[in-house]
Amino acid sequence: MSDAGADLVILGGGSGGYAAAFRAAELGQSVILIEKDKLGGTCLHRGCIPTKALLHAAEVADTAREGEQFGVKTTLEGVDIAGVHKYKDGVISRLYKGLQGLAKAHKVTVVEGTGTFVGGTTVEVDGTRYTGKNLILATGSYSKTLPGLELGGRIIASDEALTLDWIPEKVVVLGGGVIGVEFASVWASFGVDVTIVEALPRLVPAEDEFASKQLERAFRRRKINFKTGVKFTGAKQDDNGVTVSLESGETLEADLLLVAVGRGPNTAGHGYEEAGVKMERGFVLTDERLRTNLPNVYAVGDIVPGLQLAHRGFAQGIFVAEEIAGLQPKAIDEAGIPRVTYSHPEVASVGLTEAAAKDRYGSDVKTFTYDLAGNGKSQILKTSGAIKVIKAPDGPVVGLHLVGDRVGELIGEAQLIYNWEAFPEDVAPLIHAHPTQTEALGEAHLALAGKPLHVHS
Ligand SMILES: Cc1cc2nc3c(=O)[nH]c(=O)nc-3n(C[C@H](O)[C@H](O)[C@H](O)COP(=O)(O)OP(=O)(O)OC[C@H]3O[C@@H](n4cnc5c(N)ncnc54)[C@H](O)[C@@H]3O)c2cc1C
Repeated sequence: MSDAGADLVILGGGSGGYAAAFRAAELGQSVILIEKDKLGGTCLHRGCIPTKALLHAAEVADTAREGEQFGVKTTLEGVDIAGVHKYKDGVISRLYKGLQGLAKAHKVTVVEGTGTFVGGTTVEVDGTRYTGKNLILATGSYSKTLPGLELGGRIIASDEALTLDWIPEKVVVLGGGVIGVEFASVWASFGVDVTIVEALPRLVPAEDEFASKQLERAFRRRKINFKTGVKFTGAKQDDNGVTVSLESGETLEADLLLVAVGRGPNTAGHGYEEAGVKMERGFVLTDERLRTNLPNVYAVGDIVPGLQLAHRGFAQGIFVAEEIAGLQPKAIDEAGIPRVTYSHPEVASVGLTEAAAKDRYGSDVKTFTYDLAGNGKSQILKTSGAIKVIKAPDGPVVGLHLVGDRVGELIGEAQLIYNWEAFPEDVAPLIHAHPTQTEALGEAHLALAGKPLHVHS
């Protein structure tokens, strides 16, 4: 094929890349999207969607096991892991088909192959050069490991955990962040004896301390073991299992070690360095308009320092497409991006933690915590947890933190409150349907507005 050109060339067809492609096409641009694997990237094939399918299967297992609590006679006969994968893969393949259809409908030219950035705004794939008026780099991320800890055999990362065709008896999860906690939750529901090892002092350490405490309490109740503030020193494996050593001198025996210590930017070997892209620790540096140091070259998604989340990639992709089209979109507020850990129970947040709010606004920030024990729907579901709302002194709500089953769905309202800079007095008169878990958000804002309803004073 001879060299080709378009208004926009995008390297990487994951959340960030395809969102940019679709929005640019809507704005009348011709788009070439280069993808070496499958359109949809990590999120659709190896991330968000498969993990959430596993978590739903886990919830079904818990419901079957616990039916008695609701007066329904059920027992869990067992988990057919092949059946679980069939269900999960069915979800992925339907969404994948839909996404391919969307690319076609937007008239995006998808080039299959591995691209190398060769300078200017040009990417080369198998000897053919694709040049855009603008170029977006969107090559995503990979599972990191620790120095001296090689992945392979019984030492796995999330990609392997998602396709495991057997259910282990015992697992050690290295890393108590989102991915580690979600897999721990799935495995525990499938009857696996799980131990999480986290070097920082608490699970989900990026969240408000309140959320970590709530989650740890729930995990204790679920008999999910965790060791926080403990460093890993090494792991050895043989045919029978893996032995994990900790700095404390303790060793843990397991069938598998899941390494979930974060994701690194996939920026090596694609010509970025040679082309002169400014990077730090492998991440592509951009300004707030997502411009790299090179003219007409932008970057989006997990290769840009910050939250590694699919919806951040979508938002950044849309942003760059609109920026290129001259629409002057508003810069993205990183704190306004909602975060959800979909474990049982879920942890969801938007805005600042209390510690960050105090750094920014001083010690007079106001907080209110509403316990889900007072929320009818949560009682019906038999979930415990709480909602914490943080407000700037004489100012709007600046942080919302939620823990409990299904609270991930409440983040939709929470993010409107934060991003529209609402005051508790703005939210208090809004009526929440009864009985729903959204009422807990309503109650917290009623209380912060000085008119608590179902709250003990
Ligand atoms: C286990 C797991 C669970 C997750 N759960 C969630 C969740 O619930 N919610 C959430 O918001 N986020 C979640 N994430 C994170 C989310 O998947 C990422 O933030 C998102 O996929 C990043 O999008 P991206 O476009 O930057 O990169 P990717 O989705 O990784 O896409 C990059 C694409 O570029 C392609 N590519 C790379 N190099 C080249 C090259 N040289 N030539 C051609 N193509 C190339 C890759 O094949 C890939 O398709 C999860 C991640 C993991 C691993």
